[in-house]
Amino acid sequence: MIRLENVTKIYPDGTKAVKEVSFEIAEGELCVLLGPSGCGKTTTMKMINRIIPITSGKIYINGVDNMQINENDLRRDIGYAIQEIGLFPHMTVGQNIATVPALKGWSKARQRARAEELLELVGMDSGKFIDKYPSELSGGQRQRVGVARSLGADPPILLMDEPFGAIDPINRARLQDEFLGIQQKITKTVIFVTHDIYEAIKMGDKIALMQKGELVQYDTPADLLYNPKNEFVEDFVGADRALKGLQLIRVREVMVRSPLTAKAEDKAHEVLARMEQGEVDWLTVVSEDGKYLGWVEKADLAGADSVKAIMKPATVTAPVGAVLNEALSLMLGHGLRNLAIVNDDGILRGIVSFEVIQRALTDVAQRGLTSEA
Ligand code: ADP
Ligand code: MG
Repeated sequence: MIRLENVTKIYPDGTKAVKEVSFEIAEGELCVLLGPSGCGKTTTMKMINRIIPITSGKIYINGVDNMQINENDLRRDIGYAIQEIGLFPHMTVGQNIATVPALKGWSKARQRARAEELLELVGMDSGKFIDKYPSELSGGQRQRVGVARSLGADPPILLMDEPFGAIDPINRARLQDEFLGIQQKITKTVIFVTHDIYEAIKMGDKIALMQKGELVQYDTPADLLYNPKNEFVEDFVGADRALKGLQLIRVREVMVRSPLTAKAEDKAHEVLARMEQGEVDWLTVVSEDGKYLGWVEKADLAGADSVKAIMKPATVTAPVGAVLNEALSLMLGHGLRNLAIVNDDGILRGIVSFEVIQRALTDVAQRGLTSEA
């Protein structure tokens, strides 16, 4: 789908930013360009849609040399999302999203319908936001609009340059999850630039790791972690690759499904009996329709009347699509031994405990050993 052949960029001042880089991105794959600041990621990406002219080498898009494609067509047919600064401040959210559709001459009505559709896709209420200006949005909302805009005319290819770089860690994880959810629905060929190895492992089907303008290793996240090609990769991956391996595992793969639960109205002595039978010392409390409400501890139940009187209300939860690393930091950050996993409607789907994470860590290390063997 996209093929780079000996791509080189030398800037007018003589800086060799990209050196003889070759690799291929399959249709529908998300390829992460990863590496330390200044290694040539942005330069490589911008040569694909010719924002930066190539010095030598070739870039093929669907088999066609991109130098043979009209520059304007190229930029209209390749979605482009960058960090923060991307939105036009004097244009509304709806106009921003419809930038490329407008350039393509779509009718006003069709532009607006498309903007509404894309706002909903990125999880924003279109009625509420479509006529707002970027300055009226939070950072996370602006970033969502940026993603929506890059999808404006439904381009088959998306270039994203540190798109979530300026967002705080919690919203960043949320945006990553949302984008992966969107990608599952629309399956674009995506090139995603980041210098954050955690983000790369979580997002990438493949990772292209660069160093000083050269491509060092092009592999799946698991192979990058467990089969580093040389010392640079090993150092970049870091000594705690087992912990980074937690990025490869989703909560839904390992959580304890259908844990024992109690209802707020349950009698304390009945619940106590159930806990003794199940050999557990705490239980999640759910509503009639299965929503997670909080938890009870065995020690608190003795002498209490109902669960409702002594239950501890829900504080933190994680979605089923979270990676284990995120679950673990939530647990450490809030002093929890167990984390409730809920769906979009707040319905309890499972529990992640330290034991679950520990088991997963062992599995990941095992995987590493197997792939090295
Ligand atoms: P990254 O995105 O990985 O941080 P860049 O592609 O932006 O890296 O930059 C790669 C190298 O090219 C860096 O050494 C940078 O300083 C240099 N560079 C980037 N843009 C220019 C430019 N317009 N002129 C000269 N050198 C540049
Ligand atoms: Mg950059």
